[in-house]
Amino acid sequence: MIVVKVGGRKELDYGAVCADVAAQWKAGTRLVLVHGGSYQTNVVAQQLGHPPQFVTSVSGYVSRRTDRQTLEIFEMVYCGKMNKQIVESLQKEGVNAVGLSGMDGRVLEGKRKDAIKVVIDGRKRVLRDDYTGTVKEVNAGLLRMLLDAGYMPVVAPLAISYEREAMNVDGDRAAAAIAAALSADQLIILSNVPGLLREFPDESTLIEHIPAESVDDYMAFAEGRMKKKVMGAAEAVAEGVGRVVFADARVPAPVTAAMQGRGTVID
Ligand code: ADP
Repeated sequence: MIVVKVGGRKELDYGAVCADVAAQWKAGTRLVLVHGGSYQTNVVAQQLGHPPQFVTSVSGYVSRRTDRQTLEIFEMVYCGKMNKQIVESLQKEGVNAVGLSGMDGRVLEGKRKDAIKVVIDGRKRVLRDDYTGTVKEVNAGLLRMLLDAGYMPVVAPLAISYEREAMNVDGDRAAAAIAAALSADQLIILSNVPGLLREFPDESTLIEHIPAESVDDYMAFAEGRMKKKVMGAAEAVAEGVGRVVFADARVPAPVTAAMQGRGTVID
């Protein structure tokens, strides 16, 4: 059982990722795919006249400012364009994929942040109308039901809050929660870097191995959005996922390469 998270950057070749995901599936690997969509969301938000904004929390994490209009654009792109293109690619590869968001069947459920403390232009501010949150529960039963019936779940990282509102959640941490709930052997996080770099952006400084018990110590190397990946990896291994790999989505057969240990392996 593996969970694959594919990032949302412009330069990623989803067709190549889907072909390899399909090859693994056909070889008998049980697999759940979680996807990003940040680049496309930025493009569409811009086109709709509601340009993206990013905020940095007081603890230094960067996230998308998600007011109600942004949430709706996020839904259009993630649940629409991104999710359906991935399902289409997998269907072309002969995999019976089912696309769903974390809201559907409460696959991902959690707590909406009622106030986020952020720093804007060096000043601290509290935002109360943000639709972001953290996954606390995973409906593993629904995912298993699909898997057992031969369908590959393709999950867009939106979640339903305890108050039953839609919310934007971090895709890496959502994938980590799914991997933990399914007791996955591996969580593979694919993006546009070869793994965690000691000196970003120098790709020759790839960190090849991180012992599971010391993931937190490596947080210092991650900047910006990479921090959420390290955090997700720490959560996954703490909750029993056998191995987490940060790997390059841009290489041929990226999932197979990651499964063979290419990238940053955390175990
Ligand atoms: P995705 O959308 O694919 O999930 P993100 O953009 O969220 O990916 O995170 C990956 C990005 O993190 C990289 O493209 C890189 O710009 C950034 N990054 C920051 N620090 C590091 C680091 N130490 N090693 C690798 N990438 C890093």
